Order: sequence, then structure tokens, then C-alpha cells
Amino acid sequence: MSVSVETSTDAANTPRDVSVPVRQQHLAQRTLAARPSEVRKVFRAAQRPGMISFANGAPYLGALPFDRIAADAQRILLDSGERSFQYGASDGIPELRAHISELMRLEGITAGPDQVIVTAGSQQALDVAARVLVNPGDVIFAEAPSYAGGMAVFTSYEAEIVHVPMDSDGLIPAELERLIGEARAAGKTAKGLYTIPNFQNPGGVNLSAERRLQVGELCRSNDLLIFEDNPYGLLGFDGETMPAIQPGFEDITLYFGSFSKMIAPGLRVGWVLPPASLYGHLLNASETSQLNPSVYSQQLISAYLDDPAWEDKLAEYRAIYREKFTALVETLTKVMPAGTTWNRPTGGFYLWVKVPDGIDTETLVYDCIERGVVYVPGTAFYTDGSGHSELRMSFCLPSLDDIRSGATILGEVFSAAAAG
Ligand code: PMP
Repeated sequence: MSVSVETSTDAANTPRDVSVPVRQQHLAQRTLAARPSEVRKVFRAAQRPGMISFANGAPYLGALPFDRIAADAQRILLDSGERSFQYGASDGIPELRAHISELMRLEGITAGPDQVIVTAGSQQALDVAARVLVNPGDVIFAEAPSYAGGMAVFTSYEAEIVHVPMDSDGLIPAELERLIGEARAAGKTAKGLYTIPNFQNPGGVNLSAERRLQVGELCRSNDLLIFEDNPYGLLGFDGETMPAIQPGFEDITLYFGSFSKMIAPGLRVGWVLPPASLYGHLLNASETSQLNPSVYSQQLISAYLDDPAWEDKLAEYRAIYREKFTALVETLTKVMPAGTTWNRPTGGFYLWVKVPDGIDTETLVYDCIERGVVYVPGTAFYTDGSGHSELRMSFCLPSLDDIRSGATILGEVFSAAAAG
């Protein structure tokens, strides 16, 4: 492969400079066991100037009201700059937690501001939760495929990921039940289910309302925790939101939310709503990890949500994303080789594409990169080596023109491969 992206599979190398030798004896056992993520290599390519990227799960920020945000930023600093730049409460500022409590109500969650812990994005909340709850060897069930960054958190605490097959209604409860039985029969601890029920990353699928209840009951009767990761729930193209899994299963569910996809990931603000019994442990771990989330970032988000215009902005974003999704699908329909299929997401950021057997998306990504287009190969979203005939395309960030020309290049590369 003639690629200039890093292709090392040596977990001992630092990601930035593969030429610096690492002394193995310095590394923790869990670091030695870790596998570098395919996504990271591909993301490095995605950062090259001029690259059309379907790889980044990043929002389009071009429609944000920066004038208003700048005015908020100035007002906040002039009114309360010392508070903004000081250490703050480890659970987050009260005014933001009040907004979070209101937001979660939209998905049927009843939780007061004092039950929420604000974190540096939901990624940190996942890490804190896994640190508190996961022992080496524990089994965490996750959709097949699932978010690479979420699975990486669990495996970094030496959990074993067991994938649960999905169909167009999300993960299949009967399969989960079977796999719980298999794990138990093998003497393993089935610790929890990691699920992204809305506009799943990467599959774009929603877990049906009926299955949410079935999955909750299954987890309860088998003493599993539910890690409900929901950064995309308010990003349905038509604005409809589904009830979360958490209501009715408050005692076993850790619900993770984020402002990254609906406002801005650069502010790094997310949260976790844990069961009451775990709250103290999670707060302690979050404190150990970061002392407190950035007060200034929280104030900016809180001020943004103070103005009811945030809902109109979200509606505008939904329309933008729908248009981009439509452009992508229209182009792929024209250019991809026969036998290529994809799902029909009704919101979120991702299209999950399946190509005919025999075409390897992990190999072809480098041909695409050479031609200025990048996506994430399906293998990044499984821990069991599958996904070679699949790929994830994020449609929110590139412009409409780039979507059309990028997908056309993709079609040419894949069609040439299909023709042998
Ligand atoms: N969960 C899922 C499913 C995601 O897609 C992402 C970001 N790609 C995250 C969590 C982390 O988001 P953040 O830390 O920015 O809130």
C-alpha cells in the first residue's frame, strides 16, 4: 500500500512519532494489550488540506450564530470573568444543569439538575463510568457495528466487547439474550450493554420503542447496566424525538448526553445522568479525572440555551443535514457499483454502506485518499475483525458540492475495484 498515513500496527509506538522507540517495561499491561484504532489513521488523512472528508463525525458549524455567541462571550467575561476563569463545581454549574434537566425532559427523562454530572464531552463521561464500573474481563455488549471511540473506552479498562446483531429496528433483543447466556455459560461477567439508540453511530439506525422496553427488561432481569449514549437524539430530520430507554430503568441506566453534535464539539461539554446509587462514585471519579468541567464553556452553552432561538437554529440544522443526506444518497445511487446497499437514516450524521463481497473497504480507503476523499472503513466499528465490506459516510460536515464530487470519486474507485 502506498500510503503516507501511519500504517503501523505496533501498539507500543506513540501515535505521533512512530520513530521514537518505547520501552515496553514502562507501559501498563492494558496499554500493551490495546490495539490502535483504524479511525485514527484515517482521521489523520482527513486533516490534510483539500481532502473531502466523509470520515469525521463532526457537525457543520457554518450556520452557528457566531455574532450572538461572541456577544454572550463578551458579556459573560465582563459580568463574571473571575468566575468564568476560576475552578468550578465538580458536577458543573447549576444554570447549565438546569438546562440539561429540561433538555432530557424532551426524551421523557425526569431528573433534577442535582442528578446530573457535567463532563468534558460525553467521551469523558464514558471514560469515568467505565473506570468506576468495569473490571478486566467483564463483557460489555455493543451493537454490531458500534462507535469505535465508545468501545475503545471499555476495552481500555480491559472489557471484552461482544457484538449484538442489529436489523433495521436496532439491536435484536433475542440475540442479546442468547449472547448473555453464552457469556454466562463461559463463566464471564456480563456487566452491561453499551447502546446508541438514536441515529446510531455508525449504523444510522433507531432502536424501536418496543425494543427499548424489551432491552430494558432483559438488562434488568439479567442484572446488566445500560450505558445509553445519546448525542444525536434531537437531530432527527423531521424533529421527532423518541423516548429514551432510561425512564422506567433509572436504577440500571447511565444516560450520556452531549452538546457536541447539536451545538459545538470544541466547547467540550457533555454529561452523564447515572442511577442514584452510582452518583457519588461517578462524581468522585470525574473529580479525579478533571477536577471540574470548564466553567466558561458551560456558561457559553448555558447562555446559548437561555435564548429560545436555539430551537430554531436546531431546526435549521436539521434541514441542512437532510439536504446533505439527500445529495449523498442521490449521488451514490448513480455512481456505486451494482450490489451496493445502504440504510435510510431519518436523522443523525451517518450513512452505513455495504459493498459487494470481495471489495475490501479497508484497502480501498487508501486509493480514495490518494484521490482526495476519505471515509471510515467498516472494520473500525467491530472488535471481531468484521466490516470489510462496509463503510461509514458522515454527511454533515462537507459542502453539498464536496459531497457530490467526493461520492463520485468514491463511485469510480469502487466501480473499478468491482470490475476487477
Ligand atoms: N458517543 C457517540 C456515539 C459519538 O458519536 C461521539 C462523538 N463522535 C461521542 C460519544 C463523544 O462525543 P463528545 O465527547 O464530543 O460529547
